[in-house]
Amino acid sequence: MDRSTSESPHTLGEARAFNFQNARRLAPWFAKGCAVAALWFWGLAAWQSAQPLPAGPAVFAGAWCALAALAFVGVIRWGNALDDRRHTWGAQALAFVTLGLGLALSVGLGVLDTTQAPDLVPFALWCTLSAGAVLMRPRAAAVWYATCGLALCVGVAWAPTQQATLGTWWFFGAAACAGGWGLSGLLWHRFSTESALRRSLETSQSELQLKQRELDRLVRQDGLTGLFNRNTFLELGRNELRRAQRQGSNTTVLLIDLDYFKRVNDTWGHPAGDAVLRHVAHTMVSNLRSTDLVGRLGGEEFIVLLPHTSAEMGRNIAEKLRHKLQHSEVFWENQRIAVTASIGMSCAKPTEALSMDALYLEADKALYLAKQRGRNRVM
Ligand code: GH3
Ligand code: MG
Ligand code: MG
Repeated sequence: MDRSTSESPHTLGEARAFNFQNARRLAPWFAKGCAVAALWFWGLAAWQSAQPLPAGPAVFAGAWCALAALAFVGVIRWGNALDDRRHTWGAQALAFVTLGLGLALSVGLGVLDTTQAPDLVPFALWCTLSAGAVLMRPRAAAVWYATCGLALCVGVAWAPTQQATLGTWWFFGAAACAGGWGLSGLLWHRFSTESALRRSLETSQSELQLKQRELDRLVRQDGLTGLFNRNTFLELGRNELRRAQRQGSNTTVLLIDLDYFKRVNDTWGHPAGDAVLRHVAHTMVSNLRSTDLVGRLGGEEFIVLLPHTSAEMGRNIAEKLRHKLQHSEVFWENQRIAVTASIGMSCAKPTEALSMDALYLEADKALYLAKQRGRNRVM
């Protein structure tokens, strides 16, 4: 994991959100723990005051815990007010306040708990816990653990310490800081690696979805005109016909073949022929209803299915299309290419229960007749 990945804005943003969530989730538990510890220390002080032992440190430790419990309650309230994630810096600050409170508590307890020497257990515990509670970049972690060491120095300078125990204290204090820093680095490394992997997975997933959609489109559509291809049209046509038969309505099919299209290619070249095909597709789609199915069977042959359309209405629509095509203007190299089409028509009444294949065959026969009788006509 290189540094740029581990410090990318995404990783940092995710770490901030994670820290905020943790601060909010842990603060209530810390508050409860501190309240219990306060009660325990005060109970201890009450018991000690009945014994020939000094009760002072336990009273102070209880007060320290009660104070921390109150501060954590403040953190909870602040966190709830910041619940809106847009306060990213507030969220980050909350995480560090939680850290600071824990540090003050652990150092304070270590110092107050004993009159002999600082007790390093709460401090070492907090060094380890804070590594898991707040995600920090290695540099921020170095600053944090240096702060921990400094806080411990201040706490111990304040405590009545026996010189004999100082060496051991220095050793274990430094070890707790180094251990916490190492653990924090390991956790950061794992988090940033996972975050980068997750992001690259999300990117590949969305790329894959885009490709899948494109593939679906290619499988269903004709690449040149964008109309349904033969297979898709016939499949959709069969469904449409079944539905019309169930509902008791007529269905009309138009088979449209451009006249002398080979001449267009021969005269103007294939790119011009392609432009004509696209133009014809566009003319048909823009002159039909959105519920009509339009497909390209192949070459210069198109097919249209008109739901809820009688033979008479179908004929009118076919004539309209033929007329539009004949009078449409396709220009290639500043010259107009004339386009006409022959149209074969067939109509299925609901009582006849004709199949899509039978409708297609009938329209094909009609188209053949249209060609035979001079082209540019509807049969
Ligand atoms: P008819 O009036 O009898 O239908 O004559 P026609 O020339 O239109 O029919 P024919 O079947 O002889 O020629 C169809 C031509 O369509 C032949 C082929 O080169 C051309 N064609 C088929 N597919 C494409 C295509 O995708 N692009 C282009 N530019 N031409 C195509
Ligand atoms: Mg043809
Ligand atoms: Mg033709």
